[in-house]
Amino acid sequence: MTDTLRDADRIAVLTGAGISTASGIPDFRGPEGVWTKNPAAEAMFDIEEYVASREVRVATWKHRLAVPAWRVEPNPGHVALVELERQGRLAGLITQNVDGLHQKAGSSPELVHELHGTVWYVDCLQCERRVPMADVLPRLESGEEDPACEVCGGILKSATVSFGQSLDRAVLDRAVAATEAADLFLAVGTSLQVYPAAGLCDLALNSGKPLVILNAQPTPYDEHATTVLHTPIETTLPELVTLP
Ligand SMILES: [Zn+2]
Repeated sequence: MTDTLRDADRIAVLTGAGISTASGIPDFRGPEGVWTKNPAAEAMFDIEEYVASREVRVATWKHRLAVPAWRVEPNPGHVALVELERQGRLAGLITQNVDGLHQKAGSSPELVHELHGTVWYVDCLQCERRVPMADVLPRLESGEEDPACEVCGGILKSATVSFGQSLDRAVLDRAVAATEAADLFLAVGTSLQVYPAAGLCDLALNSGKPLVILNAQPTPYDEHATTVLHTPIETTLPELVTLP
């Protein structure tokens, strides 16, 4: 397996929640996951529920304040992928995460493809105005429970992709292009249960590329992978990218 990764010149990487748990951001489906512990929380990630219910929006903004992506730091797993880019071997860094930790670690923004959007921006669902989350946080901290757009009064929502919302086509196209340009596909910290992210594994496999999976729990793609590792990401990934 070490040979598989060492011999790859162009690696497309897909990351999921598992790479950020060591930074203190809970995942969704793991044993300590947000949805495992509180299935009702799933409503916060459904666009219809969000638009229909002030209660859901208030809970969602509370959750945003409680899960402080803006106050956490990247861990050695994120840093390892910066090293992979420095080696000139990163075809693209596709992520299901919305925490922005890859960019914070130093990965080039043009190589990071955020399939599910980002919590670092907020969109108005009515006039589509986009503002930095940093503009909205002070309003939340000063007691606004469901801040409205300051231009049109519309509903504000983090620039993340909820259930019922489509992915940004351009981002998905870049993720596909990165996968096609790679000679190996590395999936890190993702349960590979959400499409189209998981479908990128099919794209790689169908063109005969090795698939390496590094994840705490088994995934539906384990049986198709060249190598499967269930070891901790924050120690394993740095080892993998610095193989002699
Ligand atoms: Zn607006």
